[in-house]
Amino acid sequence: MTSPRFKTSIATVSVSGALSDKLRAIAEAGYGGAEIFENDLLSAPESAREIGALMRSLALDCTMFQPFRDLEGLPSPLREKAFERMKRKFEVMEHLGTDLVLLCSNCSPHAMDDRQRMLDDLHELGELAAAHGKRVGYEALAWGRHVADHRDAWALVRDVDHSAIGLVLDGFHSLARRIPSASIGDIRGDKLFIVQVADAPYIEMDHLNWSRHFRCMPGQGDFPLAEWAAAIRRTGYDGWWSLEIFNDRFRAGSAHQVARDGHRALRLLEDQSARLLKQPSPMPPRVVPSGVEFIEFAASHEEAEDFARYFTALGFARTGWHRSKQVERWQQGEINLVINAEPEGLAHSFDIVHGGSVCAIGLTVPDQQAALARAEALDIPRFTQKVGADEWEIPALRGVGGSLLYLVEEANRAAMWADEFPASAPAPAPLLTRVDHIAQTMQYEEMLSWLLYYHALLEVKKTPQLEIADPMGLVYSQAVETPDGRLRLTLNGSIAAQSLTSRFIQNYFGAGVQHIAFETADIFAAAEAAQAAGLPMLAIGPNYYEDLEARYDLDAELLARMARLNILYDRDGDAEYFQFYSRAVAKRVFFEVVERRGYAGYGAANASIRLNAQAQYRDPPI
Ligand code: MG
Ligand code: MG
Repeated sequence: MTSPRFKTSIATVSVSGALSDKLRAIAEAGYGGAEIFENDLLSAPESAREIGALMRSLALDCTMFQPFRDLEGLPSPLREKAFERMKRKFEVMEHLGTDLVLLCSNCSPHAMDDRQRMLDDLHELGELAAAHGKRVGYEALAWGRHVADHRDAWALVRDVDHSAIGLVLDGFHSLARRIPSASIGDIRGDKLFIVQVADAPYIEMDHLNWSRHFRCMPGQGDFPLAEWAAAIRRTGYDGWWSLEIFNDRFRAGSAHQVARDGHRALRLLEDQSARLLKQPSPMPPRVVPSGVEFIEFAASHEEAEDFARYFTALGFARTGWHRSKQVERWQQGEINLVINAEPEGLAHSFDIVHGGSVCAIGLTVPDQQAALARAEALDIPRFTQKVGADEWEIPALRGVGGSLLYLVEEANRAAMWADEFPASAPAPAPLLTRVDHIAQTMQYEEMLSWLLYYHALLEVKKTPQLEIADPMGLVYSQAVETPDGRLRLTLNGSIAAQSLTSRFIQNYFGAGVQHIAFETADIFAAAEAAQAAGLPMLAIGPNYYEDLEARYDLDAELLARMARLNILYDRDGDAEYFQFYSRAVAKRVFFEVVERRGYAGYGAANASIRLNAQAQYRDPPI
């Protein structure tokens, strides 16, 4: 048995575009309803009646009309004016087909701190609403003048005790003020008229600007939303879960993408809150991948030679050929790299669009079917293509930039390799042992979307977002990692048109893998071997090493060796990180080798050094 599905809704302010386009995107993403944001209606060419009809034709319930500001506790004649205004809104709501309006706690400087007056006003409002067959949901804005806490809003609603007056809980207002979610236990589920959902990163700023610009989908920010939602479910609330997301990035993005992400985020919230409540969830738990099974490169025959040169210099050996396709397997330690030069299929199309590059990542998972079921419940599209009768069918999901995310079942991996690559020679003694991290580059607007994708599907935690100085602008970077660090992905985006990140997207025609880092237990041996084998290395200038000497108490001989081998260094407490980079193959993908001595990060302190070193190879501006 599965628990009942959340009734999903979203405020039209959350997505970009004209109101009718927003509504179509919302319906297509699978929501049952939408809140009409008044400004969207005011600027729409359609009448309220036409919007109501459009919503019905799209099978969308109009879940609420919002917002109505500044009513309770006003002196005359502002008070009478506010009531008059509200009557007009009831007419609009009639046309839209909703009986619920959102009343925000009063922000007006004229609002009086007179509780009895607020109670009287809300009671009178209840009578007026009931006479029109309408209901009013009262919401405490985090910056409300006298009511800024849902506990105070609830106390008013409770004491007014009118059937047409209820409470609106908005996760942002409560969690930005860090109000304990346990306090929701005092609220009666039937008096909770609607729940508005928003996440946000913890940042130091005033509540109003934080709310207007940095709200994001559940799972994309830092708020403890699962606990909050579980507390609401405990009250017996069974109404709408409605996203209300003000975010500049989303306004610049695709309405369809944002609507789809929101729907996925609500599914995730439903799943995570059910797990906290020890209730059945509609989907299997988040997938715990045990690592990267393989990385597949799409390449023409010529590009395949380029990759082969880099792989060889990094100590990989070609250990086998696919038994029926033009696909090679390269191995070292636990690492499998696959070069696909087939003249048809996805890899070939990928190569035509992007040039030689990573077209797929294979993850090792304990239960392939459970992983697929979770992906399906999250509306993550599956990819299928024709496979030969005697070939393994490895299920794949659509990933970043149209690439694939294969799911390889742990128990079958040995059999799969043996069957597909029968000629495989044993892997060489490894200097590189496994994939440490994979860096994906994308449009800045897409970063939150892919963050949610990984976070919803996989058991990963997010690191805080970092800002890195590129010589041509700022790059944002954020990682997702499994608890044991066996899978680490970094997501990178930039708004600056000439940063390396943006140049990658232009040159590559989309988002994709920009670098792959391999782990070694001996960075010096690995760098020496790579240098001797002719790996095109990223050269690091002498100033960097002088600075290292000044910052850390490093042995002079060690420093000289690092400088000779272009090894970068970072330290975090006692933990140390060593890294070196290759040049990029065809100005796209490059490789990194790292040695972690208890270090958990990615050498952010060195990222701008690396970006500067890479910038010297950029083409002159046209
Ligand atoms: Mg709200
Ligand atoms: Mg890296």
